[in-house]
Amino acid sequence: KKWVYFFANKQAEGRADMKDILGGKGANLAEMTNLGIPVPPGFTISTEVCKYYYDHGKTYPEDLKQQVDEALKRLEEVTGKRLGDPERPLLVSVRSGAAVSMPGMMDTILNLGLNDETVVGLAKLTNNERFAYDAYRRFLQMFGDTALGIPHAEFEKALEKRKEEKGVKLDVELDADDLKALVEDYKEIYKKHGKEFPQDTYKQLWAAIDAVFGSWMNERAIKYRQINNIKEGELLGTAVNIVTMVFGNMGDDCGTGVCFTRNPNTGEKIPYGEFLQNAQGEDVVAGIRTPVPLEELKKINEAVYNELLSIMERLEKHYRDMQDIEFTIEKGKLYILQTRNGKRTSQAAIKIAVDLVHEGLIDKETAVMRVKPEDVERVLHPKFDDEEVKNAKVIAKGLPASPGAATGKVYFDAKKAEEMHKNGEAVILVRPETSPEDVGGMNAAEGILTARGGMTSHAAVVARGMGKPAVVGAEEIVVDEEKLEFKVGDVVVKEGEWISIDGTTGNVYLGKITTVKPQGLEGEVAELLTWADEIRRLGVRTNADVPRDAKVAREFGAEGIGLCRTEHMFFEKDRIPKVRRMIVAKTKEQREAALAELLPLQKEDFKGLFRTMKGLPVTIRLIDPPLHEFLPHEEDQMKEVAEQVGITVEELKSIVEQLHELNPMLGHRGCRLTITYPEIAVMQTKAIIGAAIELKKEENIDVIPEIMIPLVGHINELKYVKKVVKETADALIKESGIDLTYKVGTMIEIPRAAVTADQIAQEAEFFSFGTNDLTQMTFGFSRDDVGKFLPEYLEKGILEHDPFKSLDWEGVGQLVKMGTEKGKATRKDLKVGVCGEHGGDPRSILFFDAAGLDYVSCSPYRVPVARIAAAQATI
Ligand code: PEP
Ligand code: MG
Repeated sequence: KKWVYFFANKQAEGRADMKDILGGKGANLAEMTNLGIPVPPGFTISTEVCKYYYDHGKTYPEDLKQQVDEALKRLEEVTGKRLGDPERPLLVSVRSGAAVSMPGMMDTILNLGLNDETVVGLAKLTNNERFAYDAYRRFLQMFGDTALGIPHAEFEKALEKRKEEKGVKLDVELDADDLKALVEDYKEIYKKHGKEFPQDTYKQLWAAIDAVFGSWMNERAIKYRQINNIKEGELLGTAVNIVTMVFGNMGDDCGTGVCFTRNPNTGEKIPYGEFLQNAQGEDVVAGIRTPVPLEELKKINEAVYNELLSIMERLEKHYRDMQDIEFTIEKGKLYILQTRNGKRTSQAAIKIAVDLVHEGLIDKETAVMRVKPEDVERVLHPKFDDEEVKNAKVIAKGLPASPGAATGKVYFDAKKAEEMHKNGEAVILVRPETSPEDVGGMNAAEGILTARGGMTSHAAVVARGMGKPAVVGAEEIVVDEEKLEFKVGDVVVKEGEWISIDGTTGNVYLGKITTVKPQGLEGEVAELLTWADEIRRLGVRTNADVPRDAKVAREFGAEGIGLCRTEHMFFEKDRIPKVRRMIVAKTKEQREAALAELLPLQKEDFKGLFRTMKGLPVTIRLIDPPLHEFLPHEEDQMKEVAEQVGITVEELKSIVEQLHELNPMLGHRGCRLTITYPEIAVMQTKAIIGAAIELKKEENIDVIPEIMIPLVGHINELKYVKKVVKETADALIKESGIDLTYKVGTMIEIPRAAVTADQIAQEAEFFSFGTNDLTQMTFGFSRDDVGKFLPEYLEKGILEHDPFKSLDWEGVGQLVKMGTEKGKATRKDLKVGVCGEHGGDPRSILFFDAAGLDYVSCSPYRVPVARIAAAQATI
């Protein structure tokens, strides 16, 4: 079996479409080599070896060693250097790279091949002793940390000490002799930890390979995969890339950088990047030195700058996507070390996808698939309240690394941030700079602020990927992790105090600022969504109770109202006393009198909704919750309410007691209420039909009201309430002399209704799955109390998703599927929708599309998300 893939001189054994076995980095190095782009030669050990390694008790396939030896030999031939050769030493980098990019999650070792002999050779070869010993000490540090587990900080301390002794501040101020001494310091550190640095370069190579494969299962890599929903077994593992070293730190005609073919924050088609003269790659990524903008390279070396720009363009056209490229310049010669599809903000993802269609590089389907439903959600996401932010105090400014506004309490430690988040606190994680160990805390935070690092530093890249607001490199800030505070000028912010950050402007504010969601769809998002509309089969409606919500939803593209929960209007100030009078009525007459007062108010509500929706379908549900929800339970409110409805406190208490149920969610609610009190259904029908009639008469607006009966489990329940509704509606319509059609349908939210959907469809003219209740009753999980144990279920892997957020495909989903099939078998033109929370969840929408539903209905802000998710479901 082939385990090792070689690449050099415009010829590679791998290709871009071999990501699964070469990892993203390896596949792209091979592809670029084939394209004739200047890539240093090397070879990739496949991800299949990683899988083998873990399947076989951390051992390698028998023939791996031979294949690595052969590849190494070829590499030595093409470079004219040899691993361990004291005259012409070959130096390589050893890097991880899985099929999915996991920035900084796994290990990298540079300058491998240096030892006490080869370092002398390198010094002679480059005529630069300082450079050689700097490379050596870096290698000792990385190798010790990565392959042997010696804490990174120990090496840093030794370096600091040397600088202190010499009275200098910067690494570059240390000369060759200082670095030689530092090498000896480092070796001492190895000894102190009971380790020995292998002078045998071949041993170094295998130790590094072991370390990279070992890093696949390290804590932070596992955590990264968890956070990014990469399942175990989804990837084979990491590949190991062994690539000839090129040096960006051999002098001022050298350097290293990272560039994007478009701006990864805004998506604008402008090359974007950073460059650091006389530096090695990790100096940029670690955010230790702050690099200069890419354009500066033009001044330093215009030829190389132009070559880079032309390669950027070629790579983008070739991959048909925005590329994130790492490059190094060694003595004026450009090398490309890596290219990959660049991580980008949600805003940029949308703009780039739309622009690439306009540029003819991809088609509309591809554009729709490139954007994650969450991207659409995020661009509609928080900004600061305009007024509040005007008066807020800017205490610092950093780089706007990941857009959006966030406000929270300051914590300096990732673990603590996670803990506080669990306690329900809004957290802003503040760090000098972040490293992969901080990823858990970054994920828990509302936003991230760092004092150091550039736009491609760890904090910036990871925050963008997470869609978290982040401000990085706010250099005025001095973080004191010991005292748990940071200082900017004379302002001191202590742990637990509020700050706010704006990842769009880079501003850092003192105190809490309310965040608000932006309104309206425009520009590229709007265009992308119209493409989604052309593609999708599922309709998208909204759950809205009042005209204001309906209006927002229409602007977001809702094609109707899938659920109006009428009882929400009952809580309005002017209604609640009337509702209560209806509930405490002792006789039917009393109840009808109270209902008669409610009728005109409800009718106005519905007119408002119908007017806003301008002829689009509007589904209105009859009263659903148990009546006790409308009555007070606190002693101190009893008196006021008793007066309000004209009974004694004692009487009110006894009514509340009578209404008390041990299990109200399974109690007297839904159609059970209108079966007991048909007069409520009569009033609501009058309000709905009356509103439609009046709108037709007064404003010539056509409406087709859909009256929905909740919580039906047995066809006879539906029959009974439907009869009441129909008699009322038909009489009104007849009296009006207007031609009005309306529909009567039902929620399917009790398992029995799904099972007997064929019968129920004989009466129901439409179905809407209430997946909230259906989940509650199928699992037998109380939707209001599930928080007591669900987090543990998720943690222990008993359930993969919160079933109230994302549909349970195998269980609840099967009821939805069965109900749809049975219903449509009885009534061919039966319209079937869903109006539970799942209607706005992309993963659930995938299922609803496959199950043959006609539409989903969700809260207004999720309508755009549902439009894109529905389109993706059909592609
Ligand atoms: C449902 O049960 O899914 C539903 C939409 O109704 P409610 O959430 O109002 O019970
Ligand atoms: Mg329900």
